[in-house]
Amino acid sequence: RVVTRFAPSPTGYLHLGGARTALFNWLFARHHGGTFLLRIEDTDRARSTQPAIDAILDGMRWLGLDWDGDAIFQFARADRHAAVAHAMVASGHAYRCYMTQDEIAAQRAAAQAAKQPLRLRSPWRDADPATAPADQPFVLRLKAPRDGATAIDDLVQGIVTVQNAELDDMVLLRSDGTPTYMLAVVVDDHDMGVTHVIRGDDHLNNAFRQLPIYRAMNAVEGGWPDPIYAHIPLIHGTDGAKMSKRHGAVGVEAYRDELGILPEAFGNYLLRLGWGHGDDEIISRAQATEWFDLAAVGKSPSRFDLKKLEHLNGHYIREADDDRLAALVAAIGGYGSDSIPLLRRAMPSLKARAANLNELATNAAFLFATRPLAIDPAAADLLAGEAPSILAGVHAALDAVHHWDTEALETAVRQVAEDRGVKLGQVAQPLRAALTGRKTSPGIFDVLVVLGREESLGRINDQMA
Ligand code: GLU
Repeated sequence: RVVTRFAPSPTGYLHLGGARTALFNWLFARHHGGTFLLRIEDTDRARSTQPAIDAILDGMRWLGLDWDGDAIFQFARADRHAAVAHAMVASGHAYRCYMTQDEIAAQRAAAQAAKQPLRLRSPWRDADPATAPADQPFVLRLKAPRDGATAIDDLVQGIVTVQNAELDDMVLLRSDGTPTYMLAVVVDDHDMGVTHVIRGDDHLNNAFRQLPIYRAMNAVEGGWPDPIYAHIPLIHGTDGAKMSKRHGAVGVEAYRDELGILPEAFGNYLLRLGWGHGDDEIISRAQATEWFDLAAVGKSPSRFDLKKLEHLNGHYIREADDDRLAALVAAIGGYGSDSIPLLRRAMPSLKARAANLNELATNAAFLFATRPLAIDPAAADLLAGEAPSILAGVHAALDAVHHWDTEALETAVRQVAEDRGVKLGQVAQPLRAALTGRKTSPGIFDVLVVLGREESLGRINDQMA
C-alpha cells in the first residue's frame, strides 16, 4: 500500500518546486494504485492566507493533480499534536524543560565563542520531575538519542547518516501549548498513513529530527514505522543558483496567465525537470503514470529553462483540440463567446505557429478587427509604393474566384504575381498587411479562407489604389 501527500505551506502562490513535488507524489501514488493526499500546513497563522490556499488548490486542479478525500488542515489538528507530545512525556521520551531565555542565550553565546553550532543541552533532560519549579513556564522537549548515528536510506539521496550527537532536544510543544512544525508533520503523516514522504531536499535535515519522534511513538504504542523518504533536488535557474524571482516567474499561475502555458505542457516540463525516461521529451500523463519511479530521479539540481518549456508548449498547442483552444483564446483575447466559431475555423492555421496562448490570442486579433483596419506601424511599409496597384490586381483576380478555397485562391494570387512579373512575396506581403494589418500572420491563403470572400475583398479594397 502506498500513501503519499503534498504538504504545502499556504504563505504564497503554488511555486514551481512545489508543483513538481506535488506531481511526483501524485505520479508515485497513481503508479502504485495508491492514495495521494493533500495537507495544508497552515500553522503559521500570521503568514497563512485564504488566497494562498485558493491559489494552491487552483494550481493543482489546473495541473490535473487530484487528491483523494478532503484536504487536511494542520492547524485544526493542534490538540492531537499536543496529545502525542504528552504521551511522549508520560513514557519518558520527552520532558518538561524550564530553561529560561537567558540560560538558552548563554549556551548560544558559548557556542558562538567556540565557533560551534548550538546544540542545546537542557539540565531538565535528566532532572527529577519532583524538583520542577511550580508556576514557571516550560516547553516539552524531545529526549533525542545522543549516542550512535541515525541513517536514512533515501530513495533519491541514498544512505545519509547523521551522528546523533549533532542533534539537540528540539521543542515539541511551546510554552503556550502550541505544537512545533516538526511534531505536527510527523503526527499528521502517521495519522494520514503516509508511507512515502517525497519532498524537496531542503527538508532532508528535518528527516533526522522527525525520525526520533516516530521511533519514540513506535516504542510507546507501536504502529509508527519509519516512513520511506525521497528528498528530491531543488530547481535551479539557468545560472545554477536556486530558482528565484530573478530567474523568471516562480508562481504557477504566472505560467498560466502571463505566459500562456497549457497545463499539459507545464506538467510535462515539470516531470522532465529532475526525472527522465531515456531521451523521451514528450510524455503524456498516462505514460508518465505507467513509467514513473523514484529511482530515475536525479541527484543533482535541475535547471529551469523557459525556452524548453515554450518548445513543449508549442507542441501541446498544436496537439490540442481546436474547440478547447478557441474557448481559451476567446477568454484571453476578450473576444467574447460569439467569436468562438470563427476562432474554431481559424485555429488549425493559427496554432501552427504559436508558442503560447497569448501569442495565439494576439495572432487571432485580425479576425475581429473592423474596417478600415488599423495598420501596425511595422506593416505600413508593405502597403506603400506599388502595393495599392498590386492589391487592385489581386482584388480583381480574387473577385473572379468561384470556389473560395485555399487551392483556388493560391492559383489566383500566383497568377497575379506572374502577370506582373514579380515574385509571389511581393504580392503576398501587401496582401497580408491589407488582410491582417500586420507583418506576420498565418498562411495568407488560410487567412483568406477564414475571413471569407466578402470581408477579404473589403479589406483589400480599403488599401488599393
Ligand atoms: N510545508 C512544507 C513546505 O511547504 C513541506 C513539509 C513536508 O513536506 O514535510 O515546504
